[in-house]
Amino acid sequence: MKKCIMAIYSHADDIEGNAGGTVLKYLAKGYELIYVMSTNNMSGEWNTLGPDNEIISRKLPWYEIMPQRKLEAAKAAAKLNNATVIHLNHPQRHYYDQNSERHYVGYGTAPVNCAAPESCILTAHEFPAARKEIAGLVAKYQPEAVLTHDPIQLDSEHIGTSLLVTRALKECSYSGMILMSPCVDVPFCGEIYNFRQSWIDITATYQGKLDMIAVHACQMPKVSHLTWRPWETGTGCEHVEAFAVVQPGEEGGEFRDEILAHWHKYEM
Ligand SMILES: [Zn+2]
Repeated sequence: MKKCIMAIYSHADDIEGNAGGTVLKYLAKGYELIYVMSTNNMSGEWNTLGPDNEIISRKLPWYEIMPQRKLEAAKAAAKLNNATVIHLNHPQRHYYDQNSERHYVGYGTAPVNCAAPESCILTAHEFPAARKEIAGLVAKYQPEAVLTHDPIQLDSEHIGTSLLVTRALKECSYSGMILMSPCVDVPFCGEIYNFRQSWIDITATYQGKLDMIAVHACQMPKVSHLTWRPWETGTGCEHVEAFAVVQPGEEGGEFRDEILAHWHKYEM
């Protein structure tokens, strides 16, 4: 195992929003970051700020939004100690064409030039090649921990990513730590969002997290309004990032130690 954190999230800006404070903190302690996005980032509206600081969204075709989102991911990774950027490029579940018309990708839909329907992120976990790709990354980089979304998410592509990563890591018998980030969107499932098995204290890197999110300007042209669930409650810290422990791992270093020190393990 190396002093390495592999973050596998769905879209450009998900790593920063879910675990940005954590990766900044551990990069400063000598860790390496492998920055992985599961989708091809072909969807998403392009947001800009209007004269009254309001967010204006435009539906741009996939061939304009995709390169911009990938460019912003590259800029973010450059600021994260030149993290290695990996795009798994599973198509998102929809995209806009040149007429701002939305098209869906999934089972039984016609192939389009920006998407191979059999590997849409919603169903990628069912395809052995998609799982093997992740197993290959883990074998290559030997991360101490792999971070991804938890499976209770408002965004169905986050759910697809969670399934893909979890199944892939179990299948290849990855023995390191596996952590999942709870949904950062509205708590539409109610109290199920209130679990926090462990956390990382990100008080010192919280501003840096906001700065990193701001790099993804086509999604977040301003960051001053952002809030997260009150994960810090009861921790004694000003800011934390919450994680569920899927697998504690057999060995590791300082990062794993902090997670284990804060781990509320439910004895069954
Ligand atoms: Zn996302």
